[in-house]
Amino acid sequence: MTLDPASSAAQLDALILDVLRHRVGKDELAAKPHDWFNATVLALRDRIIDRWIATTRRTYETKGKRVYYLSLEFLIGRLLRDALANMGLTRDMEKALREHGLDLTVLEDLEPDAALGNGGLGRLAACFMESLATLDIPAYGYGIRYVNGMFRQRIVDGWQVERPETWLAHGNPWEFDRRESAYRVGFGGEVVETAEGVEWKPAEQIEASAVDTPVVGWRGARVNTLRLWTATALEPIKLDAFNAGDHFGALADEVRADALVRVLYPADSSPAGQELRLRQEYFFSSASIQDIVRRHVQFHGDVRTLPDQAAIQLNDTHPSVAVAELMRLLVDQHGLEFGEAWDVTRRTIAYTNHTLLPEALESWPLPLFERMLPRHMQIIYAINSRVLREARKAGMSDQQIAAISLIDENGERRVRMANLAFVGAHSVNGVAALHTELMKSTVFADLHALYPARINNKTNGVTPRRWLQQCNPGLTGVIRDAIGPAFLDDAEQLTALNALAGDAALGERIAEVKRANKVALARHLKDLTGVRLDPDALFDVQIKRIHEYKRQLLNLVETVALYDQIRSHPERDWVPRVKIFGGKAAPSYHNAKLIIKLANDIARRVNSDPSVGGLLKVVFVPNYNVSLAERIIPAADLSEQISTAGMEASGTGNMKFALNGALTIGTLDGANVEIKDRVGDDNIFIFGLTAEEVEQRRAEGYQPADIIAGSRELQQALSAIASGVFSPDDPDRYRDLIGGIHDHDWFLIAADFDSYAAAQRRVDAYWTDQAAWRRSAIHNIANVGWFSSDRTIGEYARDIWGVK
Ligand SMILES: *Cc1c(COP(=O)(O)O)cnc(C)c1O
Repeated sequence: MTLDPASSAAQLDALILDVLRHRVGKDELAAKPHDWFNATVLALRDRIIDRWIATTRRTYETKGKRVYYLSLEFLIGRLLRDALANMGLTRDMEKALREHGLDLTVLEDLEPDAALGNGGLGRLAACFMESLATLDIPAYGYGIRYVNGMFRQRIVDGWQVERPETWLAHGNPWEFDRRESAYRVGFGGEVVETAEGVEWKPAEQIEASAVDTPVVGWRGARVNTLRLWTATALEPIKLDAFNAGDHFGALADEVRADALVRVLYPADSSPAGQELRLRQEYFFSSASIQDIVRRHVQFHGDVRTLPDQAAIQLNDTHPSVAVAELMRLLVDQHGLEFGEAWDVTRRTIAYTNHTLLPEALESWPLPLFERMLPRHMQIIYAINSRVLREARKAGMSDQQIAAISLIDENGERRVRMANLAFVGAHSVNGVAALHTELMKSTVFADLHALYPARINNKTNGVTPRRWLQQCNPGLTGVIRDAIGPAFLDDAEQLTALNALAGDAALGERIAEVKRANKVALARHLKDLTGVRLDPDALFDVQIKRIHEYKRQLLNLVETVALYDQIRSHPERDWVPRVKIFGGKAAPSYHNAKLIIKLANDIARRVNSDPSVGGLLKVVFVPNYNVSLAERIIPAADLSEQISTAGMEASGTGNMKFALNGALTIGTLDGANVEIKDRVGDDNIFIFGLTAEEVEQRRAEGYQPADIIAGSRELQQALSAIASGVFSPDDPDRYRDLIGGIHDHDWFLIAADFDSYAAAQRRVDAYWTDQAAWRRSAIHNIANVGWFSSDRTIGEYARDIWGVK
């Protein structure tokens, strides 16, 4: 569809040439591919700007309520294909570029991935931005413009090596510098009483200035703004010092500001690292809240009506300090009474929880917090005394009150960011049904008892534009031929495919598309890793951050067991398998990095062993990111979602795979539970302990050694790894890693192993019945349209934000 009938390929072509000449500054005869890429983006951007201005004007005229999504991560990936498709200009652009002998897909590959996120939480923020624009909801995403973002992963000798991500090296044609939207953000100093009230005099100030990226919704419904903050020193160079010869000292302020916006998740194992992380959180929260309040007062006059015009969503606790910052602005700058300010704050802010892992629940050492944000510390104490009074009035015990307190008094005193977000919000949501129930019974049990109406569930979703239409045009075309185009605008219309699940011709066409995607992936992985893959093998994929709770190790141990079995029983009809792994490990996470090395050690040994006869191949794909996910997911047959039950809040990778026709092997964890309910028990491979059983096992004193002793396959696989079969150069490399399974096995690998291995053999058996497999694949595609982020955002809009 074309929005503007006049936007023909010829007009686009003229626009691109004009842009190439006058904005890129190149003669078309001399232009390099990068110049054409820039010209293409800038030409498209001109079209987007017209929609941007039109939709923003509409918001002003209708005084529409705005949604503000605060997130430390936006894992947006590449934008060109997405923006072209949503503007309905893909065909025209292809045609215009072809006139110059250029291939759009080649230009698309020149775009760097914006790696401003770590994993699911950041990708969720990106899907949400797209769905907000699609649903025509006025919204801003607020975050940090990291110059280097998340590291680029290289694999050297099988080990992860972190290199800086230089995604901005060639500039970024999508961005608009908004120097006029700049705010001062203070740190440290002291709080003084004045005649007018309280005043915070920061010791240091940094300027936050806005860099905007337009986000286009499907069919150009609306263009919203992703506003990322960059930092500069108020005085970029101290000329006196510089001229006196202290060249570095003269630039120290600028370096300090620059350090704030360099990397996502600086290691916080040192006090300096912790301080930088807290500085980042306050920096972006403060700039965002100042911008929101400024915009509100400018257009609506009275700061008291903020909750009617603005809904602020905190994506996890990273922006929790926004609660205290909004209170500070309302009380210290706008003169509201504390109680009134508290009411405005709570009606404006909502919070999404993403994890129950105790080590991931943020808290800051109180002395650090107080030194860096002395005024906010006072406000937090004041909030705390209100909340604890309420708790006492409600008859809560000392123990409950200690759990509710914003200050953790066990050992070194710490400020609890999750409790701050919880009490400062009118809505606290989990991201899958099971996770939300566990929130109520575990981390937030006492806060939930005090505020029983606050916790609600919003099961995550993914945008079907990027995760079906753009990443898998072949499948999209087949579906369209089968059921018509309605699913393009409403993913839940995919259910029309259920009636066709038994249609062998449709199954055949879908299988052909899958095979073509596998051929393309095999070619790409051959270039990346040198490993040759058979596209007729079963592609079994686990791509996600490397973490012990996600249990890549369970998958690897089972891979070793399978390798043993194939060699011991060469006479059996083994299903040829390709095991694909990918994911980054946090730089300071020792076991996760060791798991990457293990995957590579196993791959080297298995792939070069002629006795498996190509029945098993293992690949570790380096530098997993959005663009790789877009290539791998359409080519997957089996989706590994095997976390220890109760530990994965939702997962969104699981949704993307099912939408592209992969079958899931998984535990009853996170959104897997809801995926199973929708696709049906016959179309998914469920195994392992439930969340309840996991808790029970741990409580009654789980003995992994007994289980290992009772499972020959497991015992042999573990001892092969531990004794150095895969690491002859360093036989003890995995002794401690495997020792951990024998010893405590916190993630219950031993407890779930037999059940997992049995499920894998069920997968093999099912695969040999290709007709049944294809039917199940269709039922997966048909029934996961509900996991569209349009549905999720619709629920946030209705239940939390009160928009539309
Ligand atoms: C979807 C996605 C994730 C989240 O994957 P999970 O399996 O849910 O952990 C992480 N990284 C990228 C690049 C993604 O696209």
